Amino acid sequence: MKPRVLIVEDETALVTLLRYNLEREGFDVGEAADGEEAMVSVAEHKPDLIVLDWMLPKMSGIEVCRQLRRKAETRATPIIILTAKGEEADRVRGLDSGADDYVTKPFSPAELIARVRAVLRRAKPAFGGETLQHDDVVMDLANHRVTREGRPVHLGPTEFRLLRHFLAHPGRVFSREQLLDAAWGRDAYVEPRTVDVHIRRLRKALNGDGQADLIRTVRAFGYALDTGAAA
Ligand code: CA
Repeated sequence: MKPRVLIVEDETALVTLLRYNLEREGFDVGEAADGEEAMVSVAEHKPDLIVLDWMLPKMSGIEVCRQLRRKAETRATPIIILTAKGEEADRVRGLDSGADDYVTKPFSPAELIARVRAVLRRAKPAFGGETLQHDDVVMDLANHRVTREGRPVHLGPTEFRLLRHFLAHPGRVFSREQLLDAAWGRDAYVEPRTVDVHIRRLRKALNGDGQADLIRTVRAFGYALDTGAAA
């Protein structure tokens, strides 16, 4: 089956250009001109990835992203945000809202397609039918489910990959750069500081009701997954 990409963008010329190039590369393409249409579209036909413009009429792309993350069907769907804003603060805000990656306008269709492929590759679980476990955290790789003490833990795709990497190497300390490679891939254009944003989200999701913080911060270096690590 062709992977389906939903383009949420109100600039029709850009949508036409992206649709043409994505279809030529073997993708099934859906479109929505604003956030409301996007919500209707994902309910009708769940996409494998969403390309979401920041500047949309009515609701901003950031708000659409937050809403998509709140819906069970699209909680883990990879989202690439299109933006004309290059500021670091905006970047962090965008990632905080749940996006997986960023493409800054203007960009070439080839560049976007490369990102779409990279994000889709990362979103697929590396192994099937396996479970990773550490302490009271259990990750079901095939079903993309995580529980802590039996309580479901809802993670975005990037947090899921980070946790998967930690669970595969418990106790080991990873630098931000190593975590970037593991969760975003070597060809990603992501700044090391972005790792902190996602670690914060991972911690928040994992340490729900005052449970021990399992992620240890190694000052000026990076992070590790430890049993009952002190905050
Ligand atoms: Ca727009």
